[in-house]
Amino acid sequence: TRTTSDELIRAEEPVLAHNYHPLPVVVARAEGAWVEDVEGRRYLDMLAGYSALNFGHRHPALIEAARDQLDRLTLTSRAFHNDRLAGFATRLAALTGQEMVLPMNTGAEAVESGIKVARKWAYEVKGVPADRATIVVAAENFHGRTTTIVGFSTDETARAGFGPFTPGFRIVPYNDLAALEAAVDETTAAVLIEPIQGEAGVIVPDDGYLAGVRELTRRAGCLFVADEIQSGLGRTGHTLAVEHEGVVPDLVLLGKALGGGIVPVSAVVGSREVLGVLRPGEHGSTFGGNPLAAAVGTAVVELLETGEFQRRAAGLGVVLREGLTALTGRGVVGFRSRGLWAGVDVDPAIGTGREISERLMREGILVKDTHGSTIRLAPPLTVTETELRSALGSLERVLTG
Ligand code: PLP
Repeated sequence: TRTTSDELIRAEEPVLAHNYHPLPVVVARAEGAWVEDVEGRRYLDMLAGYSALNFGHRHPALIEAARDQLDRLTLTSRAFHNDRLAGFATRLAALTGQEMVLPMNTGAEAVESGIKVARKWAYEVKGVPADRATIVVAAENFHGRTTTIVGFSTDETARAGFGPFTPGFRIVPYNDLAALEAAVDETTAAVLIEPIQGEAGVIVPDDGYLAGVRELTRRAGCLFVADEIQSGLGRTGHTLAVEHEGVVPDLVLLGKALGGGIVPVSAVVGSREVLGVLRPGEHGSTFGGNPLAAAVGTAVVELLETGEFQRRAAGLGVVLREGLTALTGRGVVGFRSRGLWAGVDVDPAIGTGREISERLMREGILVKDTHGSTIRLAPPLTVTETELRSALGSLERVLTG
């Protein structure tokens, strides 16, 4: 007698904190762009773990790297060196056009680490008076769930009940260079933004915004910190979303896909001038840079070095955009996309984002809503054109059927 999906969902209720409201599907196995539930029903994964599964589920090269490493060494802590970390850092820095790597585990930790590094740099290099450093962030940002990070969120659901919050952050509208310019002053350590705002609904800034942020921060003598945790590592058709405007930030925050969907791996990458401010004892993580993470992370970098996934995202991104353009006015009221990543605003008369997601689930397509009537599409970059077109067909049936 196998336990059913319904039984497993009911069993979670009394024992799991209710900080999520998952779709009622219980996944038991997966391969590539497909997942299978407890009853053996198959679904096309059009969320890809919020872009943590850019290479699909259980990519053979990543599984092999993990297996090999499991047989040799999994954890040392940074009290000792391990034989995988140098190669990982060297190749990740080269891939991202940077010089140094600070390995962590989760996205929120990379953001926290970036904030600490930017502040330290402001005091030691820029000469900001002690405890006066400010960091400018954008409204509607999503950088994670720690207390410091939710403190500069503009989403009341994320903030309410979790104060008091860390001071030192200024919030300006996204995609507004004049507002940014007005907020930056001699205390500013950094401007921290997402090159594309993911959780906000895949908000793509105007052309010129990212280059403008680079120009402005250089002129103001503060750091440009790009949170590429969701936008980076192939998703937009480039290794990093900032490459769309040929921009090189001072610090880049990476996570999600860096762990290949196998282990949590995040990193701050940046110049030696900036990351070099950290000295022994000032920052750390028991698991950060562990050999299993480094082995999987190296295999991820190897996949991206070929350029294949970036090309797939760019090419299939055209198919995605054409499909959504054809649905505009037929259930879709607007959408934004870059590469294999789209935020789709559905006509609220048809349903909430949640209701549309549930209907798509019954069609065998897994997506997740963001706010209100917006759903986001972010399939693994390994998805085929046929699979993508079939997902667009399901969306059409759900919206017009
Ligand atoms: N930054 C961005 C842009 C994200 O999208 C996310 C997660 O969605 C995070 C940071 C936080 O990552 P994690 O959930 O691994 O802490």
